[in-house]
Amino acid sequence: MNVMNLRDEFPILSRELYGRKLVYLDNSATTQTPDSVVKAITDGYTRTKANVHRGVHTLSQEATELQERARRRVAEFINASSHEEIIFTRGTTEALNLVASSMGGMVLGEGDELILTVMEHHSNIVPWQLLQARKGFRIRVVPVTPSGELDMDVYRSLFNDRTRLVSVCHASNVLGTVNPVASMIAEAHAHGVPVVVDGAQAVPHMPVDVRALDADFYAFSAHKMYGPTGIGVLYGKREWLEKMPPYQGGGEMIETVSFEKTTFAELPFKFEAGTPDFVGIAALTHAIDFMERVGVQAIHDHEQELLAYTTRRLLEEIPGIRIFGTAPGKCAIISFLVGHEHHYDMGMLLDKLGIAVRTGHHCAQPLMHAFGVEGMVRASFAVYNTIHECDAFVDALKRVSAMLG
Ligand code: PMP
Repeated sequence: MNVMNLRDEFPILSRELYGRKLVYLDNSATTQTPDSVVKAITDGYTRTKANVHRGVHTLSQEATELQERARRRVAEFINASSHEEIIFTRGTTEALNLVASSMGGMVLGEGDELILTVMEHHSNIVPWQLLQARKGFRIRVVPVTPSGELDMDVYRSLFNDRTRLVSVCHASNVLGTVNPVASMIAEAHAHGVPVVVDGAQAVPHMPVDVRALDADFYAFSAHKMYGPTGIGVLYGKREWLEKMPPYQGGGEMIETVSFEKTTFAELPFKFEAGTPDFVGIAALTHAIDFMERVGVQAIHDHEQELLAYTTRRLLEEIPGIRIFGTAPGKCAIISFLVGHEHHYDMGMLLDKLGIAVRTGHHCAQPLMHAFGVEGMVRASFAVYNTIHECDAFVDALKRVSAMLG
């Protein structure tokens, strides 16, 4: 893969900060956007802007076709059986809120149990807690081992006749751990329990096949996969989506409305109240085109090379470094601390050297507590990062830890 050619498609990567070349290593928070996606957004506003599913006029039909083409493209990309199983949301967060509120509200009652894991992002914890306050079920939590893998013995032992649902991330946004979701789903299904998967950190980095996984629900965000912000996807098996009540009410999601009785639209529109970000949704097609043009497996392999190289250099050259998450096959995320240095200080100083990394709790406070820390520094990689940037990062971190140490 010629990364240098790819980088030309991302103008932001040639920015300079404080007189140095930007090294963008905050890709788990959001990836940068190629020209083709930006152009699709511009075209959406300058050529085809009209509300979708509403007008007979040509622009409205074109805008509708672009949105529905994106739905078919997403369905193919994750191997859903039908585009009707693809619901557009604002992001993973809204997708998980939708499942918790609609499906969780249906299956979880007092005395029931929901299984989560300690490595979940707050987006896969708080929506369930909001529901818990109304429904009074119990949340059981799978812990992690010191290498940052789920304790599968505990997972298996948590199932009982009150277990109604499992919700788990495919890959951790802190540890990089790729959870064995296929076998976790098989285990849950053997107990008659459906599984929600938070795929926000998986879809950008590896091929995902929702039918091979047999996931009941699968959520992810466009902005983490070279796409526009404000767009997310919820895949749900038709058999579930058909049974579930709408999440929000409004335009688009109805069939007929009267004060006596309102009936709801067919899938997927039953779950898409109001005017969607149809411009962004249409642009998501181009993000998928970009990923497939490069090759999802090639993206994965390139990121793995950067991960292995950077990890080796960090361990050899930064005394006192502690890397959180050492599971085999983890995705290209390195969360770390050095000695007793504060994560925030390291992040600030790295920024002054042109290196963009994340600091803090990474929206995973329970996981921070499990490791006995308040925050970490996180470097996360994408397809456009280079070995040269990994060197710049390690060299900058050497300087920063010498300065702080
Ligand atoms: N889950 C995981 C694992 C994530 O990494 C993120 C984003 N950091 C989210 C959920 C939330 O995604 P969004 O903010 O795009 O809704």
